[in-house]
Amino acid sequence: MRLAPPVPILDVIRCYASSCSYIPELAVIAPQQFGIAISLPDGGTVTAGDAAKPLSIQSISKVFSLACVLGRIGDQIWTRVGREPSGSRFDSIQLLEIEHGRPRNPFINAGAIVVTDELLAGRAPREALAEILGLVRTLAEDDDIHISESVAQSETMTGHRNRALAHYLKSYNNLLNNPEHVLGTYFHQCAIEMSCIQLAKAGRAIAGLPDASAIISLPKARRLNALMMLCGQYDGSGEFAFRVGLPAKSGVGGGLLVIVPGRASIGIWSPGLNVFGNSHMGTHAAERLAHAMNWAVFG
Ligand code: GLU
Repeated sequence: MRLAPPVPILDVIRCYASSCSYIPELAVIAPQQFGIAISLPDGGTVTAGDAAKPLSIQSISKVFSLACVLGRIGDQIWTRVGREPSGSRFDSIQLLEIEHGRPRNPFINAGAIVVTDELLAGRAPREALAEILGLVRTLAEDDDIHISESVAQSETMTGHRNRALAHYLKSYNNLLNNPEHVLGTYFHQCAIEMSCIQLAKAGRAIAGLPDASAIISLPKARRLNALMMLCGQYDGSGEFAFRVGLPAKSGVGGGLLVIVPGRASIGIWSPGLNVFGNSHMGTHAAERLAHAMNWAVFG
């Protein structure tokens, strides 16, 4: 009997993931692309692959919108959103019904929509968006970061589940603003485009690296890390913590922001997604890098 020739590991990892299917602008992106940038304490950045290519950060934006809201109203946000892992899909409606309109955490879609609603309080959508974009630009020290109008429009056309979630929240009086305004803001924040290099740079404050922007205080960064660890990969969070052992936030654009507290901030991109809606190759890369570098928060 002849054995099949050995298949390079990356080919196996690449072969069964496809890009985000429900946002048409993202669905056409070739899934096998890959980039990584690692920002280090000395300010240096190590890169490989498509590290400079802009990616749609999607749910990674939820970390930045939450940081804005924590800065504005602090712990008051927890009266409207929980901070427990969901164990459910990122866009689950069932969970919201069971919990009477109080989303389980700020990183599932329903929770992020509430956070964006809070950010809108008394302001026009463009002002709330300017705050999120301003934070990201300051953290990454790069004013070139922008929002892709075509991706935002694409999700506006097909974001029926998010629309359902927003109206459901409204029915439980957990949405203060007009659902369409909240969704418009949310879709645009998700459509922010950043490269792995910019992402890694923006994560420095969350990683507590030297000379990072002081906009995100250490206690706030600690909390963001805790939430990223427990809720950052939706119902794949336990598996990710087990395999990688680091706080991280994923997005359906295939981006991944991984934090190694005190040591590094990592931006990874590969658009092919796993069953949880997280970057398939990105997760493998984070796992292999964490093991190779002996980077883990559990010692
Ligand atoms: N804009 C996407 C949505 O709301 C974000 C989801 C994600 O990146 O996980 O469906």
